[in-house]
Amino acid sequence: MMASPIYRRVVVKVSGEALMGPDAFGIHQPTLERIAADLVAAQALGASVGIVVGGGNIFRGVKVSEQGVPRVTADMMGILATVMNALALETAIERAGAPARTMSALAMPEVCETYERRSALRHLQSGRLVLFAAGTGNPFFTTDTTAVLRAAEIGADAVLKATDVDGVYSADPKTDNNAKRYDRLTHQEAIERRLKVMDATAFALAQENRMPIIVFSIRTKGAIEAVLKGQGRATIVSS
Ligand code: UDP
Repeated sequence: MMASPIYRRVVVKVSGEALMGPDAFGIHQPTLERIAADLVAAQALGASVGIVVGGGNIFRGVKVSEQGVPRVTADMMGILATVMNALALETAIERAGAPARTMSALAMPEVCETYERRSALRHLQSGRLVLFAAGTGNPFFTTDTTAVLRAAEIGADAVLKATDVDGVYSADPKTDNNAKRYDRLTHQEAIERRLKVMDATAFALAQENRMPIIVFSIRTKGAIEAVLKGQGRATIVSS
């Protein structure tokens, strides 16, 4: 018998970097296809799946604003990068066999639908994966905060935060041999210890809404599906 998902509705946060795969920039097609297949497999378990995709593989506002572009303009450029990634992932998901819809926080009707909560819920109920593009639509925010925000809006049970390591560590495990891995953690601990896995705004919003955040590695095939079944290695950040 197929295991049923332990989370009925989730928002999966896929960073821009995750789409780069081994490349230094842009979208690595085989990686995009693997992640799309994983999202479709997760949905096939019976969960409704929303996706927030980042833009860091194409553009990061903070970095560019240090080079002279006003922060607000740079952030809008970053927001546009998330739309490009969402459209690429939407295409890959549909090729992998499931219907998907991109909904943008900023109106661009010639490109995709505009985000509207009730339409998003209808898409999910009709078995479509929904990609939430353009972040929150506001500068000074991140797509991590967007993931928590949309999760709260659509009544998701958890945010699944895909990273390149298997959970939350006390320091960067790639550079610090003494980094300790956590199995469980509270939102408060994540904020107090200034853990880098998400920004403080995202953690604060998650804490206020008692939204669990499951941090896991997207590097292995089937990772999202495994988290949904309550298997696989992950850190659970909850109240
Ligand atoms: N961004 C923004 N508001 C939002 C979401 C994103 O201004 O609500 C901009 C910001 O400049 C950010 C960029 O879009 O640097 C890409 O998003 P993010 O850094 O969250 O992407 P990721 O790190 O997940 O690839």
